[in-house]
Amino acid sequence: PDAITVGELAQRMAVRGAEVVKSLMKIGTMATINQTIDAETAELIVEEFGHKAKRVSESDVEEGLKGGPDREEELQPRAPVVTVMGHVDHGKTSLLDALRKTDVVGGEAGGITQHIGAYQVKLPSDNRITFIDTPGHAAFTEMRSRGATVTDIVILVVAADDSVMNQTVEAINHAKAAGVPIIVAINKCDKPDANPDRVRQELLNYGVIVEEMGGEDLAVEVSAINREGLDKLEEAILLQAEILELKANPDRPGEGSVIEAKLEKGRGPVATVLVQRGTLRQGDIFVAGSEWGRVRALINDRGEQVKEAGPSEPVEVLGLQGTPKAGDEFVVVENEQRAREISEFRQEQRRQKEIAASGRGSLEQMLSRI
Ligand code: GDP
Ligand code: MG
Repeated sequence: PDAITVGELAQRMAVRGAEVVKSLMKIGTMATINQTIDAETAELIVEEFGHKAKRVSESDVEEGLKGGPDREEELQPRAPVVTVMGHVDHGKTSLLDALRKTDVVGGEAGGITQHIGAYQVKLPSDNRITFIDTPGHAAFTEMRSRGATVTDIVILVVAADDSVMNQTVEAINHAKAAGVPIIVAINKCDKPDANPDRVRQELLNYGVIVEEMGGEDLAVEVSAINREGLDKLEEAILLQAEILELKANPDRPGEGSVIEAKLEKGRGPVATVLVQRGTLRQGDIFVAGSEWGRVRALINDRGEQVKEAGPSEPVEVLGLQGTPKAGDEFVVVENEQRAREISEFRQEQRRQKEIAASGRGSLEQMLSRI
């Protein structure tokens, strides 16, 4: 820890390696880009470049980034976050579209118009459900691989005229590995050859035991096309949510996950985030993965600009400096300096990992950056 390569030092100061080599020569130290210099020498160089030297370790930078646990009395109920999974053509997209239309605000001006990767439905009962609407569910699998789970409940869509297929089994395995409860939506029940009993029977082989078969997993017969059974499906979601006792503290700096992110012409980097804890507000400074930003605007799934978003609310965020990845965690920080520090630290770590992974190619990589 008390030494650093010339190349690494140059990267941290965002200057060319050759400039650092030159600067070292001035103080009588001959070193190439891959050579290590001691901390004292590094500090001299850093000051030479007009920076303030600060030796940081991972724990320094990352510590306290995410706030501590909440007290029980700070927690308030939050909407369940639901992901729809299942075999291709079994009706995931159709079901998400149909569920989107059950939104009671939908009849009024606006309604859920934006495809931002997630949307929240308000039911006549005033309850809300958040649906993740990401193509291929990249976010879900990606996040799982990083150990983070945004989804509270998986809706497993199985077509009643086709039954359990290999992507059905994959979805079951994902959900079970993540410890997320499954609600089965037996779809296409309007079809003359629909056989919901066969679906329930076959699911037994994969450890999904629905109530009709003496188990505890919820299953609902639906038709996404005819918009039948959707209220029952939503009831089942709310019932499952009640069992899960989903709660979060809205009165703290916002934290959550990136659902989707892209660079848009004229808008810059745009990320859809799901707030999981606290409240994200306009003007907040935040870190998302190895990127940072200041919230310039928040836009909800109705295309409306909003001032803030609380737990389980999906919202589009403008104001990032770069484009984060789906599955990245975001967290609001105290100030810009902190945000920059974390972002630079993580970018540096990523570079180091890439260099380490590339093995013998590392020298060329180092040199190519000079
Ligand atoms: P995905 O691949 O799982 O997203 O499936 P889609 O939503 O794209 O649906 C695949 C096909 O099944 C489309 O032709 C839909 O119109 C049809 N489909 C979806 N839901 C239903 C349903 O409830 N009943 C019937 N009859 N067809 C459906
Ligand atoms: Mg689809």
